[in-house]
Amino acid sequence: MLEKLRKLIENSYSPVYKYYVAAILECTNGQTFTGVNVETSSPASGICAERNALYSAIAHGYKKEDFKAIYLMNKTVEPCFPCFICRQALVDLCPENFKIITYNYDGTKTKEVTIKELCPYPFSSEDLS
Ligand SMILES: [Zn+2]
Repeated sequence: MLEKLRKLIENSYSPVYKYYVAAILECTNGQTFTGVNVETSSPASGICAERNALYSAIAHGYKKEDFKAIYLMNKTVEPCFPCFICRQALVDLCPENFKIITYNYDGTKTKEVTIKELCPYPFSSEDLS
């Protein structure tokens, strides 16, 4: 997975922040979907690698119960976790035991948590009723 992430991160498009991210979402059947972050001159129109991969999986017909884990790599010294917009998407669209495995750029450091551990008190559709 590290080699795939290292190759994928080269597709990250981050001319402003120079914050490069690659994501590989793994489904329970072994199918994977890739994503990178993409910036534009209007920050709100860009997308993070995590949501890029997740929304691609959904576009291919996969659903919440099909999602197993997401592998992340940043061009950073320390492994980074998803931003809070992505955390909301992951809480809404992935099962509670969905794993987030994140690596630093050289692959020497990794962290692994479930989405439930990362967001123990999420905002959800239940809060809207
Ligand atoms: Zn994000």
